[in-house]
Parts: sequence; C-alpha cells; structure tokens
Amino acid sequence: WWSHVEMGPPDAILGVTEAYKADSNPKKINLGVGAYRDDQGKPFVLPSVKEAERQVIAANLDKEYAGIVGLPEFTKLSAKLALGENSEVINNKRIFTTQSISGTGALRIGSEFLAKYAKSKVIYQPTPTWGNHVPVFKFAGVDVKQYRYYDKSTCGFDEAGALADIAQIPEGATILLHACAHNPTGVDPSREQWKKISDIVKKRNLFVFFDMAYQGFASGDVDNDAFAVRYFIEQGHNIILSQSFAKNMGLYGERVGAFSVVTSDADEAARVASQVKILIRPLYSNPPVHGARIASRILSDPALNKQWLGDVKLMADRIITMRTQLKDLLAKEGSTRNWEHITNQIGMFCFTGINQQQVEKLIKEHSVYLTKDGRISVAGISSNNVAYLAHALHQVTK
Ligand code: PMP
Repeated sequence: WWSHVEMGPPDAILGVTEAYKADSNPKKINLGVGAYRDDQGKPFVLPSVKEAERQVIAANLDKEYAGIVGLPEFTKLSAKLALGENSEVINNKRIFTTQSISGTGALRIGSEFLAKYAKSKVIYQPTPTWGNHVPVFKFAGVDVKQYRYYDKSTCGFDEAGALADIAQIPEGATILLHACAHNPTGVDPSREQWKKISDIVKKRNLFVFFDMAYQGFASGDVDNDAFAVRYFIEQGHNIILSQSFAKNMGLYGERVGAFSVVTSDADEAARVASQVKILIRPLYSNPPVHGARIASRILSDPALNKQWLGDVKLMADRIITMRTQLKDLLAKEGSTRNWEHITNQIGMFCFTGINQQQVEKLIKEHSVYLTKDGRISVAGISSNNVAYLAHALHQVTK
C-alpha cells in the first residue's frame, strides 16, 4: 500500500539532538534543544509545579473527559495572565478562550480558523521565524508569506525593513507577531518600535495573530513580557492569541496551552466559540487535563503564584547571566568581534551571527551542537561549559 511513499527529511531541530547523542566527546554541548536546563545541565521541574502537582494528586480528582474547550478555570486564568488584571476585554466578555495542545496546538487551531473564516487566507511571518510556523499554517491551507525582521549586519531588529514590508502587505491579510523572546533570533522590538508596528498594522487594516510561547521567559516578568499583546489590544486590534505553558511553567510534555480570539462583543465571542468547537471536535475531541490542572492551581493560588513568578525569574535570570558570561569570556579569549548582540538579545535563544561553515566547524571540531542558522539555546549553557563554549566560538570565528 505504501511503496510510493518516499523518505522524508528529519526534523531540523530534533536532528541536532540525535547527532549530539551519538558523539562520545565528554566535552560535547547540546545547544540545539529549546528546553530550559539548570546550571548542572539537567531538565528542571519548577518547585511551584511540583507543589501544584502534589496538590492536584492529593485532591484525588477523577479522570473524566474535559469539555471540547478544556477546563473553564484554566482558560479564564490563561486569558487573565496574558491580558492582565482588569482587562476591559475580559470584563466585557469579548474574548473566547479554549485550552489547546500547548502552543503548537493553539497555532494549529488558529490556522484552521483562519483557513475557514478569514477573508484573506494569507499570513505574513517574520524572516526568520520558528521553523514550525510555516507548515502549521500551510498544512491548514493558509498561504505563508514573509516580512523582513532580522538585520544580519547588526544581529538586531530590522526596523526599517520590517516597517517597509508591513506597509506593503495587502489589506485584510494576517500578520504573525512573536509577543516576546522571538524564536530563533532572540530579537524583540522595543516599546517604541512596537508602537510603530501597531500604527502601520492599523493603517493597513491587517489582522494580528500573536504567538506568545515565552511569557515571563524574556525579562523574568510576566506583565512586562505581555506588553505588546496588551498594547495592541488597547489600540483596538482584535487579535488572535496563542499561549504556551511549555517554557514558563516547564510543562513541555504535558502540552498545556490556550487559544484566544478577541472579538467586538460578547455575541461575536459566542459565535466564534461555537465554530472553534466544531473545528476542535474532529481534531482531538478534547484536551488533556492533568497539566491544565497544575497550571490552574499555580495561576489561582496566591502563594503558589508568587512561588511560580520567582521560579520564572530564576530561569530568566540564569539565562541572562549566561549571556553576560559568554560575552565576557569571548573578550577574554581575545575575540575582537562585536558580540554585543549576545546580551542585547533576549529569551531562550541567541542568534550568534556565525555562518554555516563556522557552525559545521563548531560541531565537527568542538562537539558543540546547534542549528545550521547559528542559533544557540542559551538554556543549554551552564557554569561548567561556558568557558569551553567561548573558547570554541572564538576558534571558529577568529
Ligand atoms: N511558538 C514558538 C515561537 C515556539 O518557539 C514554540 C516552542 N518551540 C512554540 C510556539 C510551541 O511550543 P509548544 O507546542 O511546545 O508549546
């Protein structure tokens, strides 16, 4: 039956880990993985998550199905985390939120919704963007196009290029924006730049799709990282929002996420809700409950919430410290290259600006594993390997 099926290429990011595993060099470093590691290089279960999970288990709940849109408490709390206390949108019930299979699932629901209901079935994504953004939308039947985002010469935001390209996007199209900690570049617009983007998006009458996979992870402050989302809503953009709790709660494999649509009024929200349910039912029927129960505890219990905000800050601060150490150690190695972007960029990833040959050398000669585009996961750097990494980076770039 399947003799005509050809071998497909391996996943670009997951392939890095495969190669790392096969390497016997004791000094090897895996900077491909997009998951937080502690300073010993180990996966990290947040203490607040451990405590919330203990409470969930102690409550001895049943394992019945959730509804199509998941746990109502969880969706309410997720929307509040993104939009903030006293959000006009939430108070006026002009938002619909459903639980999703983490951030990818939220994006996928959104892509199906756009494919069915958006007037223009085209989404403009930043170049570069997270690799999965392209197939998620394409597979749903949404045409994917690009706008300039990253400036190779500064390793920073290409403000002029982005604004010029956005100004050319046809009216009614959708634009994808990373809410914070842009993946893969680690480059976020400043507040002033967000304001310019909002203005031009409004002028062009574009529809905004925010992907927020790292709330809290960029600056260590969940409200600060939600600036763009809240600002756009204040400016009157009725956005779509994808949220993931994989990174900020370390709930990767539990697949906890939320998908929201901000609407004009409560009636529109109810109609959107009814159609999103019709899309979800044949996709996966209803979402898993365990992780959403953990997240709900954390977002609703004041003591656990405080503990969690501390855990988020601890992760963000360790990453920021590693950025500084890497930059300082590169200078100590004698590197004369400008590495300012290592500390200017934010979140889990750093776009080092090294070319493909240099990436290959890092892998082959130094057993430092990263994606071909030169992206490193700063979360994979620790006190034990940062000096080795700086040395290796200097060797391939001098
Ligand atoms: N969006 C972006 C930009 C991401 O980096 C990720 C995780 N790599 C996701 C969405 C979704 O991840 P998940 O499905 O694990 O929540």
